[in-house]
Amino acid sequence: METIETNSPEETFVLGRRIGQQAKAGEVYTLIGDLGVGKTVLTQGVAAGLGIEGPVSSPTFTIMQIYEEGRLPFYHFDVYRIGDAEEMDEVGYEDYFYGDGVCLIEWANLIEEILPPGHKQITIEKDLSKGFDFRRITIEEY
Ligand code: ADP
Ligand code: MG
Repeated sequence: METIETNSPEETFVLGRRIGQQAKAGEVYTLIGDLGVGKTVLTQGVAAGLGIEGPVSSPTFTIMQIYEEGRLPFYHFDVYRIGDAEEMDEVGYEDYFYGDGVCLIEWANLIEEILPPGHKQITIEKDLSKGFDFRRITIEEY
C-alpha cells in the first residue's frame, strides 16, 4: 500500500500523470471517494500521463468513454449513476476490464462484485483539519 498526501488539485493531477506514465496494458484502476474529492482531477492526470491531449470529463450519461489517441487505449468509466450491474453488461465491460488498454473506474465501489482480481484501488479522502485542499490518497492492489 502506498499513501500520498496532496494539497492542491495540481498535485493530485501530477500523481495521476505519474500513474498514467507507468500504467501497463490490461491494468484496471478503481477510484473511490466522495463527490468533489478529486476523482476526475486524478483521472485527467492519468489521461495526460498516457499522452491523451484532449479534455477528459466525467462520462456521466454514458458510463464509459474511450480515448484511443494515447500510448495505450484508455477506458474511463464513471458509474455514479448506474442502476444495476446489468448496465455494465450492456456496455460490454468485460472486453475492457480484460482487454489491452488501461481502465479507470470512478465510483467503482458501486460495481464491486464485478471488479477483476488484481485491480488497483485508489482511495481519495479529505481531512478538513488539514485544510480544505488536503487529500490523502492511498493505492492498494486487490
Ligand atoms: P470528483 O470527480 O471526485 O467528484 P472532481 O475531481 O470533479 O471530484 O472535483 C474535485 C474538486 O476539488 C475540484 O474543484 C478541485 O479543484 C478541488 N480540489 C481541491 N484540492 C484538491 C486536491 N488536493 N486534489 C484534487 N482536487 C482538489
Ligand atoms: Mg468525477
